[in-house]
Amino acid sequence: MSNDITRLHTGSPENLTERFAHRASHMKASEIRALFAVASRPDIVSLAGGMPNLSALPMEMMSEVVAKLIVENGAEALQYGSGQGHPKLREQICDVMALEGIRAHPDDVVVTTGSQQALDLISRIFIDPGDVILVEAPSYVGALGTFQQYEAQVVHVAMDEHGLIPQALREAITTTRAAGRKIKFIYLIPNYQNPGGVLLPAERRTEILEIARTAGIFVIEDNPYGLLGFDRPSPNAMRAEDSENVIYLGSFSKTIAPGFRVGWALVPQSLKEKIVIASESSILCPSNFSQLAISSYLSDQPWRDQIASFTQLYKTRRDAMLDSLEKHFPKEATWTKPEGGFYVWVTLPPEIDTKAMMPKAIVAKVAYVPGTAFYADGFGSWSMRLSYCYPSPERIRDGIKSLGGVLKTEMQIRGLN
Ligand code: PMP
Repeated sequence: MSNDITRLHTGSPENLTERFAHRASHMKASEIRALFAVASRPDIVSLAGGMPNLSALPMEMMSEVVAKLIVENGAEALQYGSGQGHPKLREQICDVMALEGIRAHPDDVVVTTGSQQALDLISRIFIDPGDVILVEAPSYVGALGTFQQYEAQVVHVAMDEHGLIPQALREAITTTRAAGRKIKFIYLIPNYQNPGGVLLPAERRTEILEIARTAGIFVIEDNPYGLLGFDRPSPNAMRAEDSENVIYLGSFSKTIAPGFRVGWALVPQSLKEKIVIASESSILCPSNFSQLAISSYLSDQPWRDQIASFTQLYKTRRDAMLDSLEKHFPKEATWTKPEGGFYVWVTLPPEIDTKAMMPKAIVAKVAYVPGTAFYADGFGSWSMRLSYCYPSPERIRDGIKSLGGVLKTEMQIRGLN
């Protein structure tokens, strides 16, 4: 009965589509989301999702932090808070960013619901339909989806094993402007890039900042993985070198836990008010409960040691993946060697279509993300992202062995080996 009533009100799905705003036609589920249901089956080794591995997080300690917060400060924690974010947490965020060379004032920090919300706010403020956003080739699927929902034209700029290539950026700016297009910002992930797994060296950071400043284009530095370097700290953040032209995004999703949904934007002063107003219109204020839980955790717990144990856990898994890729993947394949973070990017001969191959991998009980997910323009069909963050090292070895088998068969079918 209630279904009938709903139908009467909304009409058929086609009619409904006609009533949507134009931008709704750009709202599409990402390839990763579509994969999620299959990849999360227990019999499948998922090298697909980028879920942080919380097995190193002591849950009893977390539950004490949360229980104490409610008992001692529940009236504040469960209340609405400031649109910009809790002042104490904003101070602590400045201490966290100092680890990557950033000197910032808490006034310039806007707390967001994960850094994903910051991406949305920046897009809302900057992007008019048809504006160009320059991104690495390949780039983070969640950012691409957001830029496209705001009807941006995403232009990929070439990367190598050391990240974005400065000369390619210069050329992309020249070509785009020569075509009469407006570039709104350059979006990049300098540390242990998603999906590439590569690290942008200090000299390239300086060069890219110089190019962007000269061209009058903002840089969005998205840095959720910066503290997850395996053998040495990552180079200083780009924001440490340029406080005027860099919008910096941070997150506790990978260093504490994503369930709190606490991230932040550190923005040039001239932008702060707009970002806070945009955020208030979508969420009123970030969760006080989550912010205060993170704040108590940072005050009372050895969070640097906790990051070190996460890093150790990911390093063991990275080693298992690189070792088994060497053993089981065909010699024609190449892959990145991440020094931190969650991801390895694999490049195969161009005849291999990783999206078409996916059902065969599922039969072999392993999942990955096809490379096309990380391009706005359909490129990347002969590449794939492998995440080592979540499964155990044994499962990673099993998964890579199976996937290597699938690949070798695929190569044989195409007469490639
Ligand atoms: N940026 C990048 C590069 C990411 O990999 C992710 C999460 N996978 C995010 C932003 C979003 O993170 P969150 O919203 O959890 O802070």
